[in-house]
Amino acid sequence: MSLSIPNQSASAIPTPILISTVVERKKEPITLTGSCYCQHITYNLRLDSLEDARTSLCHCRSCKKAFGGVFGVAAKAPLQGFRYARESGKSVTHVGVDNETTVHREFCGRCGSPIYWFAEGLKGHFRYVAVGSLDEPSRLPPRG
Ligand SMILES: [Zn+2]
Ligand SMILES: [Zn+2]
Repeated sequence: MSLSIPNQSASAIPTPILISTVVERKKEPITLTGSCYCQHITYNLRLDSLEDARTSLCHCRSCKKAFGGVFGVAAKAPLQGFRYARESGKSVTHVGVDNETTVHREFCGRCGSPIYWFAEGLKGHFRYVAVGSLDEPSRLPPRG
């Protein structure tokens, strides 16, 4: 007895041509993950949609120093969306004054990577998450 297997050569089936561009659905709740340079810190950023976070470049002196670059890139996200992962290590907080505004900056407790910052007035509302620390920074491109 022999078992016959139908011949399904891929070349026999014409490949459909996709004309429409795949657009990422932006209105879906999403959880982005992130970590610091040394992986001591790990976190989740849960958003109602990708539009719930707004990434911008900041050229202020405080951001240059904190990020070690010619600008800082951070995504403004609702406070309740940011959570350190359960297995995450400890962060350190630096509170400073920049342009008469009290600024809180959170860094990895080991490698010192920036994790997020916020101005005193936004304390209970938003976190500016360091976009470079996201595992997929391209999900939140700068929008201004
Ligand atoms: Zn680290
Ligand atoms: Zn800044």
